[in-house]
Amino acid sequence: MWIDSHCHMDSPLLYENSEKVFSECVTEGVDSIIIPSVGKENFDKVIKIARKYKQCVYALGFHPMYLSSFKDGDLDLLEHYLLNNDSVAVGEIGLDLFVKKNNLSVQESVFQSQLKIAEKFDLPVIMHVRGAIDLVLKNLRRIKVRGGIAHAFNGSFQQADQLIELGFKLGFGGAMTYPRSKHIQALAKELPIEAIVLETDSPDMPPAWLENDEINQPKELGKIAEFFCHLRGVNPSKTADIIRINTIKAIPKLGELCT
Ligand SMILES: [Zn+2]
Repeated sequence: MWIDSHCHMDSPLLYENSEKVFSECVTEGVDSIIIPSVGKENFDKVIKIARKYKQCVYALGFHPMYLSSFKDGDLDLLEHYLLNNDSVAVGEIGLDLFVKKNNLSVQESVFQSQLKIAEKFDLPVIMHVRGAIDLVLKNLRRIKVRGGIAHAFNGSFQQADQLIELGFKLGFGGAMTYPRSKHIQALAKELPIEAIVLETDSPDMPPAWLENDEINQPKELGKIAEFFCHLRGVNPSKTADIIRINTIKAIPKLGELCT
């Protein structure tokens, strides 16, 4: 069975059909899902879904692309939630210089504060990083968290090695399945298998085979994993075991809650 290490189950596109979404994903060999939040607006919803479905766990944090309503006291609120709930990680947090360049100083300060919170709670982090891997690495060298996942990784081999050295696993999903994604495919094929986790990022990042009107869902991880195994020329059932171990190493509480 596979673990979807990144799925936004609270999105209305998935949430409104959650029973169906879950039953279909089990049929497709996906039995555990990590649901990251994006900010205080969805903390309660993410917790509610994860409590309803025993194979789901969640992470709480402020996503770099959704900081427009962020206020200073929000970090205290995050700590309060972490103290009182079973969050498996702080996430998703990070830096995004692709869409939002203009608020870099806010992004970086919120990211640093959340790294310190992760350090304090001894939790891993789930990171969203676009166009800012070196800056993220610089911060990770200053604030020592216990690792985690760099989701939807699309950096250089050298940057991958540095993240791996800092205790991170790298997430691969739908973006790898497009014929033009030669670089991501090379990463997914050649990086050490121990460093890799798989994800759908659903309902975002649809894999290549979905039509425009089809919604990306956690069940697609079955086919994404098949694509990945074909790319590496490896045995799917052995690979499922390895990827499962990788994911639990990155997010230890997942092992306690889901197995
Ligand atoms: Zn995400």
